[in-house]
Amino acid sequence: MSTVRETFGLACPKCGRDEELEVWAFTGVLLTPDGTVEAKDSVHEWSESHHCECRACGFQAQVDAFTVDETRKAEVRS
Ligand SMILES: [Zn+2]
Repeated sequence: MSTVRETFGLACPKCGRDEELEVWAFTGVLLTPDGTVEAKDSVHEWSESHHCECRACGFQAQVDAFTVDETRKAEVRS
């Protein structure tokens, strides 16, 4: 089984963990009378400039601050 570090080249620069990284991505939601729900066919998009938070230790920064593998930085992520 691969890790987030191996797949995305990302890990927390503060605690080193990679299994609880939350990225604030763009996605599509449907508006309903009761609120919003994620659209079933929506895609989510994010890049190095998006906000990222490590849920393990609370560290927050842009995604590029979590980069540990420069060779993967140019890959398109979705
Ligand atoms: Zn952390």
